Amino acid sequence: MGNVVLNLEMSKINEMKNYYAKQLLDKNIPGSVFAAKTSACMITAYKSGKVLFQGNGSESEAGKWGSSTGSVPSKTSSAAGKTKSTAKGDLPAGIGGMSAIGSDEVGTGDFFGPITVVAAYVRKEDIPLLKELGVRDSKDLNDEKIISIAKVIKDVIPFSLMTLKNEKYNQVQRSGMSQGKMKALLHNQAILNVLEKISPAKPEAILIDQFVQPSTYFQHLKGQKAIANKDVYFSTKAEGIHLAVAAASILARYAFIQYIDKLSEAAGFKIPKGAGAQVDVAAAKLILNKGRECLPSFVKLHFANTDKAIAIVNKKRN
Ligand code: MN
Repeated sequence: MGNVVLNLEMSKINEMKNYYAKQLLDKNIPGSVFAAKTSACMITAYKSGKVLFQGNGSESEAGKWGSSTGSVPSKTSSAAGKTKSTAKGDLPAGIGGMSAIGSDEVGTGDFFGPITVVAAYVRKEDIPLLKELGVRDSKDLNDEKIISIAKVIKDVIPFSLMTLKNEKYNQVQRSGMSQGKMKALLHNQAILNVLEKISPAKPEAILIDQFVQPSTYFQHLKGQKAIANKDVYFSTKAEGIHLAVAAASILARYAFIQYIDKLSEAAGFKIPKGAGAQVDVAAAKLILNKGRECLPSFVKLHFANTDKAIAIVNKKRN
């Protein structure tokens, strides 16, 4: 991808803003001074002084204003010390500053909605940029923030989204597949997709936000045509170890939120997340409005919430 980052004085950025006056975008990007789109590239200038050029013509466009800061060494590698061991022993030193694919999933504990898994590739030279765009542990970010960051980074980094919709989820679950295996298959496929997208470039590491023991993960993948197993590492809380996992998590949450919005539209009311009492009430309402047969396309049927919702319905009908 043709991304260039420049570090400029605010006076220069204001000069740029005048220069691109006719091409300014009415876009509210967090922390930005302006965003503009020329025939050559997208330009976003930040209050910090960083200016991002994205697109095929970004090098020549950026050349009008200064020379690239090039690859900025990352200082995040110290986080690696806090991680759990992996299939290949400890994480490689300095993994946080490597060009890496990260992957994470969302929705496994939610009664309503799919499982979404995203693998994303972040080159080491794009790490400062992603920080600038607000990418960090998605647990610290609300939905609104997730959406605004995701909308920007989806055009900046290569990624693959796998969505296991409720109908399909319920079907494979009934056939006896564990959620762990579903996740392993989805992570593996997402990672393979990204490897293909970025080829011939190769990541220095692949980091999966750990959901099972690595040995179990690879056990789940036995019999698959292709398995990404070179330079694969696992860690819990991997979002804090490499921004690629944090970015993957944000994109997976964005996809999940969008899906829940679609379900809400179909239901005619706002669908709640999680697996608490509020989802029992919502599912009961859905059954009363649309009949029980609509459930498989909305929820994960094997959750205990299904019986609780039916109990609520029965009480109301008696
Ligand atoms: Mn995770």
